[in-house]
Parts: sequence; C-alpha cells; structure tokens
Amino acid sequence: MTMRRIVSGIQPTGHLHLGNYLGAIRQWVDMQRALRPEDEAFFFIADLHAITVRQDPRALREGIRAMAAALLAAGVDPQRATLFCHSQVPAHAELAWILGCVARVGWLNRMTQFKEKSGKDREGASVGLYTYPVLQAADVLVYRATHVPVGEDQKQHLELARDIALKFNTDFGVELFALPEPTIPPTAPRVRSLRDGTVKMSKSDPSDYSRINLTDPPELVSRKIQKARTDPEPLPATAAGLEGRPEAQNLVEIMAALTRRTPDEVCAEFAGRGFADFKPALTEAILAELGPVSARWKALMADRDELDRILASGAERARAAAAPLLAEVRRTVGLP
Ligand code: ATP
Ligand code: MG
Repeated sequence: MTMRRIVSGIQPTGHLHLGNYLGAIRQWVDMQRALRPEDEAFFFIADLHAITVRQDPRALREGIRAMAAALLAAGVDPQRATLFCHSQVPAHAELAWILGCVARVGWLNRMTQFKEKSGKDREGASVGLYTYPVLQAADVLVYRATHVPVGEDQKQHLELARDIALKFNTDFGVELFALPEPTIPPTAPRVRSLRDGTVKMSKSDPSDYSRINLTDPPELVSRKIQKARTDPEPLPATAAGLEGRPEAQNLVEIMAALTRRTPDEVCAEFAGRGFADFKPALTEAILAELGPVSARWKALMADRDELDRILASGAERARAAAAPLLAEVRRTVGLP
C-alpha cells in the first residue's frame, strides 16, 4: 500500500466560516482521523497568500492565531498532523519561484479566481495575486502531496498544480513530483452566500450577513438564517426541484452537508413545507455542529503563547519535511 500525504491550507484573512468548515476543514479532520501509521498530514495557514491583498499587519498577526485556534478547535491534532504557517517554511516560496519558471502565462490567464478577486481593476491587482496559484502548487508539491482536501472553488488551482508538476517531470525527465488528487467529498458543496445564491460564501465578502462564522453567537446565527434570502415556494420533494432556485438549493445543501445526508433526503423530509419551517431546523443543525467548536475556540484563544508554540514546532517539522525535495529540485534544475 502506498503512503498517503495529505496537504491543505487556509488563509488567515478572517474568521473560519461554514463554507470553509463544510468544504474543507471537516474533511481535514476526517482524513486526519483515518491516518495510518505510514501516512502524513500537513495543514497550514496560508499567510503568504493573505498578503496578496492589503492586510493590516496587526490584524494579520492576530488573524493567524485566531485561525490556528479555529483549526485546533475543529479537531486538527498537532500530535498527528503538522500545523504551521507557510511563511515560516521558506521552501514554499523558493519552490514557487522555480515552478513559476515552469508554469506558462497562458495557464495563469485562465484562472477564474484571479478574475473574480481582481474585479474591474485587473491592472491594479498585485503581481502576487496573479501568481498565487503557483505558490499554491508549491505548497502541495513540496511535500509530494497525494491528497489535497479542498473546497470545490479550488479545483481549478489544483489542476494547475498537476499541470505544473507534470511539465516539470517531463521537461527534466524525472519522476520528482507526485500528481496530487483533489479530494472533494460528495457531501461538501460549494457553500454559497446567504445573500446571493450565485456567489460563494467567502471570508472576504464585505457583508457579514453573507456568511456564518464559527465565532458567531447563537442569536446571530439564528438572525442570519432568518434573514437569508429565499423564495416564496415550498420545498420540493426531490433535489431536482431546486433547479433555478439557487438560494433554496444552497440552504438545502448546507443542511445535507451538516447532517451528512443527501439533498434528496433533506427534500424528502421537508417536502411541501415552507422556509418558515425549514430555517429554524437549519439553525439548530448549524448550532449543533459549530457550537462545541466555537466553545473550544474561545478557550484556546485565552492562551496565545501556547498557540505560537504549536505553530513554531509545526514549522520546524515542516522545514525538515520539505528540505529533501527542495534539494533534489535544485539539483535537477542545475542550481548550485
Ligand atoms: P478568501 O475570501 O480570503 O479567499 P475563503 O473563504 O475563500 O477566503 P480560503 O482560505 O481561500 O477561504 O479557503 C480555505 C478552504 O476553504 C479551501 O479549501 C476552499 O476551497 C474552502 N472554501 C472556501 N470557501 C468555500 C465555500 N464557499 N464552500 C466550500 N468550500 C470553501
Ligand atoms: Mg478563497
């Protein structure tokens, strides 16, 4: 049996939200629990990605701790997985430069996230925001990742990482990089904004009512769900009936993911009933899942030195794990 290397990251750009949790973090924890003795898992806080857009330095520093606490609260176990900030492992940035010389401009031009994040002011976006998918490729390739649990929105970036890995291997006639697989679970939908069912739930959305944060108190969760946009139709008997109703579909998919059921099963339960019935049940399901995580998060935030210690020791382990591959890459390329 071949060894599994699981690698994934999250930006410290705000509080962990329901989309991150259902799309990525819960899966990290599931995979971590299923690790065999020969497997490894690396979970990192993508602070270098965060600075592709302007960040207040003090808020960033605090956001890193808050994200570390959120990951630990969600079940990441620093004894079993390596938890660190990728800025503290220089191999990521170094490999990103080398891979940037392998990746093609045409490939980056196709990345939809850059188009979304740069918006109308593409010329004014940072170079880092444009080349960010190359750093992301380095993040996973530097550990020869085999499995990369990410949300649906990162699928395109992961395909790019595979293309870069393959081109490097082909250009230099080596088998250096493993081709990473995106692992997007069937029950993890692209969670969308509570205000607009056509855009994803995001940390960087200016409206806080667009998302449920891990740190939201129960009353606020309830209010956000009450105010979530829906339509006047009752719930259909099957998920096929949600076609063309993006907001309704989003809430059903969130409920399905939270209760580990299919959207069809959720529809069967609520068929013919309105959102006045559905919304309180959804609030309850959110609180049942996030409530304990939120309580642990608060407790962890009380000891910031301990959070810094966990991240420092994770970084040390990650540096040691990344060093052999980087040395081999340098040798392959012909660098002294
Ligand atoms: P930002 O707006 O700053 O990009 P984000 O909310 O997109 O923040 P990231 O840190 O970029 O969060 O992503 C962390 C992980 O969460 C990734 O694996 C990503 O695929 C996943 N993710 C982010 N948003 C969603 C969503 N709405 N639904 C499902 N998964 C998501
Ligand atoms: Mg994102």
